[in-house]
Amino acid sequence: MIKTLKKIKEILQAYIRLLTTKYTVEEQNKLNICKQCPRNKFNICKECGCFINAKVKSPLANCPLNKWNQTLTKEDILNELNNRFK
Ligand code: SF4
Repeated sequence: MIKTLKKIKEILQAYIRLLTTKYTVEEQNKLNICKQCPRNKFNICKECGCFINAKVKSPLANCPLNKWNQTLTKEDILNELNNRFK
């Protein structure tokens, strides 16, 4: 249940970033990879079902085919979690 809520929060944050920020260079690179991917159908990833424009805005998201990886390192994520639960 908590995992699901965290996933929903991550998705909502990605959509908010999509609506309020420009693509960073790294996000644009991910988007370019997705644009050329045969699993991209009308900006929906057929591997995970995500809306690609928002997916690349999540620093925790990964490509299910490992064509690109999350922006944050595992160490960054652990630091982020430690800070949230202090
Ligand atoms: S997330 Fe990966 S599998 Fe999905 S469209 Fe992008 S490159 Fe392709």
